[in-house]
Amino acid sequence: MTQNQAQWTALRDAVDGEWIAQLAQAMVEIPSVTMQEAEVCQFYAAQLRELGFDVDERRVTDGRYNIYARLPGTGDGPSLMLNGHLDTIPIGDCVPCRREGDRLYGRGATDMKGAMAAKLGALRALKSVGVTLAGDLWLSAIVGHEEPEAEKDGPLALIEDWKNGRIGGDRILIGEGWNELWVMSMGTMVFEIELTSPRGGTHTTYVPFGENPIRFLGDLIQRIAAYQEELDRGGLHPLAGAERIDVGTVEAGDYFNRTPVLCRLTGTLRWGPRANAEEALAELRELAAPIAEAGQLELNVNMIHEREPFETPGDDPAVQAVAQAHRFVHGGQAEITGKRIVGDANLYVNLGGVPSFYYGPSNETAHSDGEWVSLSRLTQAAQVYALTAAEYCGLNGNGR
Ligand SMILES: [Zn+2]
Repeated sequence: MTQNQAQWTALRDAVDGEWIAQLAQAMVEIPSVTMQEAEVCQFYAAQLRELGFDVDERRVTDGRYNIYARLPGTGDGPSLMLNGHLDTIPIGDCVPCRREGDRLYGRGATDMKGAMAAKLGALRALKSVGVTLAGDLWLSAIVGHEEPEAEKDGPLALIEDWKNGRIGGDRILIGEGWNELWVMSMGTMVFEIELTSPRGGTHTTYVPFGENPIRFLGDLIQRIAAYQEELDRGGLHPLAGAERIDVGTVEAGDYFNRTPVLCRLTGTLRWGPRANAEEALAELRELAAPIAEAGQLELNVNMIHEREPFETPGDDPAVQAVAQAHRFVHGGQAEITGKRIVGDANLYVNLGGVPSFYYGPSNETAHSDGEWVSLSRLTQAAQVYALTAAEYCGLNGNGR
């Protein structure tokens, strides 16, 4: 066994699964629906202090704090930030918190208090083995992730803090999702396409159907259907597959025998890292322009809301560090994946400029009424996080 393997084995074995399980349960027992995270944040900060960390409580709004802590490195290695959120969706009809065999049930168990407990378990193991990392290891627990009313205030505060140097991290590893390397997300845009008739409303008897704006709205819908077929055929992203255009609402007209003045269609576009939101919007405009022109209609294409795509290369040293740690713990390769759904990495990469990606214990029951997490997978995730820090930040002052 090489020195490195011996250290890795010691670090892996220093992760205390029962400690993590009890911590995760205590965290799930504290309700922390978005905007009401104060108690769980205080609890989490107290745990960090008990482990000997200085805790930086960053006020986001009154009573709501992002929690930051740092395991200082000797200064010459790259730094890593472990990140996740402490808020949950509303508890609703979710099963009450209870532990049964390998499972911990309750709102937030898998999304994502389990992972946040695992991160503390990793820091605890690193401390107990007396490892000195070459680069800093940061931990951030944020508020305001889940519910739209928070408008992502926790993640945005973190980005601000990272930019002004309050916190650090050359990479952000989010403990969200499955135990795979999720390194790419498509962008998401809610869009609105409006076709307006400059002629105003007219009795339909005076307008041939071929000139009725509704007919052109129909053409637009058909064009969107054809566009999706084009997307399905070509330019598939190797990790996330085909881009998607979906339509949610169509409105037109206000009376049965009057031509509509305004036709409006809203939907969602999910596109890959090949383009930014403005470029994707321009493509939509290009799609609709010939139809508006044929109908002599004014065209308006707007973004209601957008999140830019992100992609962190699979051969990035931090991604590779997790891959290696995963192999050590699980004995097999972690899958490299991309998804159509967006998350905080889209913000960290595009607004903060920090390469980011995800690796979590699990996600299968997130947002379901039967939410639970496997406790053994929490232990394994903690082992992977601890070994990733050793690999990426460098062990014993030997920076990579
Ligand atoms: Zn989550």
